[in-house]
Amino acid sequence: MDDYSVKTGQEGENLVEDILTKVISALGLSCNIFSNFIFPFESVFGENGYMYAEIDKLVLTPFFIFIIEVKNECYSKADYNDTSWILKNDDEVSNPLIQNHNHKLAFCSEMSIPREKVITVEVLLKNGVSNTQSSPFTNDFVFGIEDFEQKIGLLLASTDNDQLDKTLLTSISDISRKYKDKTDTHIEKLKKAEKRQTRIRRVIGHCTLQRTDIIVCNKCKTGKLCFREYRAKSSEAQIRNSTHYLLGCSNYGKSINCDRTIYVDKDKDSTDFLNLTPVTIEQRNGWGDEMKTITLLDHVSELQATINREKAANEQLRDQLQYYKAKAARAEKCKELEAKLKEAYNQIDSLQNKLDEEIENNKKYKKLFGNLFYRKKK
Ligand SMILES: [Zn+2]
Repeated sequence: MDDYSVKTGQEGENLVEDILTKVISALGLSCNIFSNFIFPFESVFGENGYMYAEIDKLVLTPFFIFIIEVKNECYSKADYNDTSWILKNDDEVSNPLIQNHNHKLAFCSEMSIPREKVITVEVLLKNGVSNTQSSPFTNDFVFGIEDFEQKIGLLLASTDNDQLDKTLLTSISDISRKYKDKTDTHIEKLKKAEKRQTRIRRVIGHCTLQRTDIIVCNKCKTGKLCFREYRAKSSEAQIRNSTHYLLGCSNYGKSINCDRTIYVDKDKDSTDFLNLTPVTIEQRNGWGDEMKTITLLDHVSELQATINREKAANEQLRDQLQYYKAKAARAEKCKELEAKLKEAYNQIDSLQNKLDEEIENNKKYKKLFGNLFYRKKK
């Protein structure tokens, strides 16, 4: 991240915070906002089995928790289902929807909160691509800056039957204070996790381990395997300068002292690594499918959709009416023509009558002046 994007990223987050503060005060809501909330979560990639996640804006209402991620990037490709998106400058970045979803899972797992109580929001400030898609994740919303104010208000004002546990605010405040200055450590751990994933891909060919996975040690059965760095000797017994990684048991050097070691190394047998069975965050928490939480925004969107459907139906009716009106107008024209035709026929009839009369008259004349004609002819 260069200085410019840090600056604009911070500006974006400030803008979102200003809107949040404004909406919360305008609606008279009781909320707590935590900015750049850092918390630890269990991960096979962490040196001591833990990594950190940073949430841009964490908002607590009496009923729900909102995890808000602000992105101040302009994308040229941003399919919600793709694992990575492409920036305008062709750089590849991870899909912020997936990133935020993983933050939510880690948060829910660490805080023991049902996922239905936590709603995620991604604010794409510049965007660059049109967002007509809906998120592949349940209880997740993607907003642009133009609709953020209105929509976040409807989300924050949502209620349900159960209020959040009062002790939750205390726990979150404690974590917020404890890890406030851990941004550098967090970024350092992220970089290390990325390096480890890259190494696994290079040695194994692919990496199926998720950041939120853990691996239970199959030797002592109580420890968890996590990554450690080591400097290895090559087959020629020369010290290699590059850092290498191994999975070691968390009970190593402790009273149980478990020495289970799995290397991620080209020069070593990787069978053990391939036979690992990670425990996913879903499995650890016994999570099934996440249920949809109905928010005020969902109600309003549903109403809006109904209105739009009605509008469309009305428009269709209007078109039909227009069509029948045109048809009726044509029928009217026909009637007019028919009348004219009738009139014409009547006229013809009366002319015929007149003609017949004339002929009759002529006959009379013939009789009257028969002789005369006769004489003239002669
Ligand atoms: Zn062990």
